[in-house]
Formats: sequence, C-alpha cells, structure tokens
Amino acid sequence: MSGRFVLLGAPGAGKGTQAKRVCTRLGVEHLSTGDLLRHAVRTGSPAGKKAKGYMDAGKLVPDEVVFSVLFERLDDGLDGFLLDGFPRNRVQAEELDRRLDAAGTPLDAVVDIDVPDEHLLGRITGRRVCKVCGNVHHVEFMRPRVEGVCDVCGGELQQRSDDRAEVVGQRLAVYREQTAPLQAYYADRGLLATVDGDRDADAITDDLLAALGEHSTEGR
Ligand code: AMP
Repeated sequence: MSGRFVLLGAPGAGKGTQAKRVCTRLGVEHLSTGDLLRHAVRTGSPAGKKAKGYMDAGKLVPDEVVFSVLFERLDDGLDGFLLDGFPRNRVQAEELDRRLDAAGTPLDAVVDIDVPDEHLLGRITGRRVCKVCGNVHHVEFMRPRVEGVCDVCGGELQQRSDDRAEVVGQRLAVYREQTAPLQAYYADRGLLATVDGDRDADAITDDLLAALGEHSTEGR
C-alpha cells in the first residue's frame, strides 16, 4: 500500500506513537517535522540553530526553516509518506499543496486524531521519550516495564524539554490558534477523516489504518 497522508492532532494526541505504528504497517515513510528539527538542533546545523529558541519556548519555528528540513526529504521523490506535525498553519498547508500539485502527486487523505482538551496536558507532561531510539512511553498510560528504561531498546527515558508544564500551555495555545483551523481547510477539500484518540492505542491504530487504507493508492 502507498499514499500521501497528513496526520493532524493537538500536541499529546498521540500522533508520533500512532504514526510509527501506521507507517510500519502501510510501508510509507514517517516524516515528523518535530523529529527532523530536534535532529537539526542536536547536530547544530544552521536550521537547528535557528529553530532551537522557538522550540524551547513552545512556539512555531519560522516556516522557511521548517520547509528547509522537510522539503529536502520530500523532494527526494518519496512516493509514500505520512506527515506528522506538518502542516501547522495555513501557509504551510498551502505550500505543501503547491509543491505536491506541481509534482502531480496531491495528498490522498488527512486524518485528525481527536482528544478532548482536558486530557492533553496530562498526556504531554507524563510523556517520556527514549534518548536512544525515540520510542515514547507514558508514566501512567504506557508505563515501561522497568521505570526509566525503554521497553524497545533498553535506552534511558527522558522528558522532552518542551513537554514541561511551563511550555505546554504555549504549545496548546499555538495549536488552537494556528493548527486547529487546518481541519476546516482539509474538510473543504474533501480530504479529512477524524479518529477518536481517547481510547486504547490499538483501537486508534485500527481506525487510522482503515481511514488511510481506504485512500491508499493501491486501495482504490
Ligand atoms: P512536535 O514534536 O511535533 O511536538 O514539535 C515540537 C516543536 O517543533 C514544536 O513545538 C515547534 O516548535 C516545532 N515544530 C515542529 N513542527 C513544526 C512545524 N510544522 N512548524 C513550525 N514548528 C514546528
């Protein structure tokens, strides 16, 4: 199966966890702009240097910086991909459409993982990420077998610096103001499906696979 997909959802909705599962099953590339930017910050690249302050403050990184890290990958001619954390505002959505339309490869589907606002804060502040493989645990909802240790690779789990309560309020405000309106943007184009993200992870994965599978290029 293949296709070009966007995963929408608030910070803490479970996009990263679900994207990894779904991409493995569908055989499409997982492109997380958050992961690409964190990598850029770690390696000290020019894009990383520009992005760091915005990320630490829970603000959106300027569009040009995000475009530079993402389109370098997309322009590699990726056929099947799922975007996680992109687009985050209307300018980014329009730029993505422009590039995909120019290549004659428009999006196949957009799925929003919907989680009630009141559950997001706890989901974010309890999140612990493996330093080595990036696998995500949660102190309450996805507890590792051994505290502080990744189930997948045995690496050390840590809290992302922007998952601290002080920064999360800002990230959620940015989401509501700039990213949530993209639901209407994609609904207007007949691309949007919504999945209830307030359930156990397997049920969400099943629904996502059903929603994306329906629109995959081999599913037609
Ligand atoms: P995420 O891992 O998706 O939660 O992203 C972490 C942080 O990276 C965000 O709070 C932003 O500072 C930055 N970021 C990720 N994706 C984007 C994007 N598409 N546009 C602007 N900033 C982004």
